[in-house]
Amino acid sequence: MAPAKTNYIAGRWLSADSCSEFTSCNPARTTEVLGAYSRSGHAEVALAVAAARTAFQAWRKTPAPQRAAVLTRMGRLMEERKEALALQMTREMGKVLVEARGDVQEAIDMAHYMAAFGRMPTGHIAPSERPEVYCAAERVAAGVVGMITPWNFPIAIPSWKMFPALLAGNAIVFKPAEDTPGLAVTFVQMLEEAGLPPGVVNLVTGLGEEAGAALVEAEGVDVISFTGSTEIGRRIAAQCGGMLKRISCELGGKNAIVVLEDADIDLAVKGALWSAFGTAGQRCTAASRLIVQKSILPAFREKLLHQTLALRMGDGADPGVEIGPVINRKQLQRIHEYVELGRHEGARLLAGGKIMQEGPFAEGCFYLPTLLDNAAPGMRIAQEEIFGPVTALMEAHTMEDAVQMANATRYGLSLSLYTQNVSRAFHAVQELHAGLVYINLPTSGAEIQLPFGGIKNTGNGHREAGMAAMDYCTEWKSVYVNYSAGSDLVRAQIDTCPQ
Ligand code: ADP
Repeated sequence: MAPAKTNYIAGRWLSADSCSEFTSCNPARTTEVLGAYSRSGHAEVALAVAAARTAFQAWRKTPAPQRAAVLTRMGRLMEERKEALALQMTREMGKVLVEARGDVQEAIDMAHYMAAFGRMPTGHIAPSERPEVYCAAERVAAGVVGMITPWNFPIAIPSWKMFPALLAGNAIVFKPAEDTPGLAVTFVQMLEEAGLPPGVVNLVTGLGEEAGAALVEAEGVDVISFTGSTEIGRRIAAQCGGMLKRISCELGGKNAIVVLEDADIDLAVKGALWSAFGTAGQRCTAASRLIVQKSILPAFREKLLHQTLALRMGDGADPGVEIGPVINRKQLQRIHEYVELGRHEGARLLAGGKIMQEGPFAEGCFYLPTLLDNAAPGMRIAQEEIFGPVTALMEAHTMEDAVQMANATRYGLSLSLYTQNVSRAFHAVQELHAGLVYINLPTSGAEIQLPFGGIKNTGNGHREAGMAAMDYCTEWKSVYVNYSAGSDLVRAQIDTCPQ
């Protein structure tokens, strides 16, 4: 069979030089192989970076409204094909169809939001201390951006990274996760159809330690945008630091929902269920800690347990299924090890705690939604990211206790608090230490017009989405123009101020 041509370089679909490949399968039935993809390395990445460098020169000079028009067309194409994209997503990474549609919708929204920036100001004018000097600061494209993405939001995350970068005039080399290469191919084919010139976006499929590492090391890449594990992010951020290459990292989380005694318990239970088990807990914003004030803990626990046990698990493509498989067998084992560890640490298993192997689940990667009780802040299950359908109840005495517990991890992505008291709500906004804070809403559910990202070990100070998205992919250029007709040199700070 001819080797798979899944690399897109300078506008041509190519196979890897070595013709080596890897495959991707449906996590609901791992025997269902979805395709073979080029396993790229240094050679392919070098070609892609060279193509991006060449294309960058013309793209950065293309008027921004024209760049924006490509994003508008891309947004429309995604609208037309939303259902097909969602179905492909459910097959490739398992999330249930309603969530897959949401993932695509996020990309559609991001396309239209960023397209609107095509005619917006890109800087500001400032007064000069010198006569007849014009001063302005403008954002310019940073250059070639290398994008390394995870599998859990396979359309939304590439769109968060790409659309601002494209609008600003950057060229891109895209290395998607090895578990979702098919969607990356579809996404790039659609960009091509939307009229993106050859070389502006280049795709290299492959493994993290091969294609990903080559992209991080490549000389011609000005910025790396990475979403993935804290472990890998820390490693590649150190590498980029040594090269003085800018890197934007969006890493792990250990998010919590705090439920105070005056909360609407039913609303809080719905929020907990969605945050803990949506996308089978495989979101960086998933709530794996539920910190509940003592007086309402029994009622909250009972309602949550009842609804957890009622969740319908299965192939995310089947109507009525509420929780799909996890991404792969390695992750399945890791999740189970964490649950066993939690029990060993003294947490009590209320529900789940099991790899499903019987009947319709036999060929897939299914983990029963798991609820642990009696978790304490010092336990590893209360500190480390599990990335699966597992959440743990923790008891708090006062609001201060609860907030302190919520803040007491090395991550800082998303924290939420339920209360009906407006004073407590605003104090919580002030005291919760995270990039995203929600009141009476779950920890997942970010909207694209606000900055997205976290503090502490969740990132390195950058944000995606919102207007803040322009920061990671642009440089500031300060411009001074002397338009006086005179021949005197007027020195700033010296000739303009009394000495
Ligand atoms: P996850 O646990 O979500 O898969 P990873 O951090 O392992 O998170 O992977 C996120 C992305 O980083 C994927 O595209 C993966 O291929 C890539 N990646 C993994 N290891 C490396 C590496 N050493 N260098 C660059 N990219 C990597």
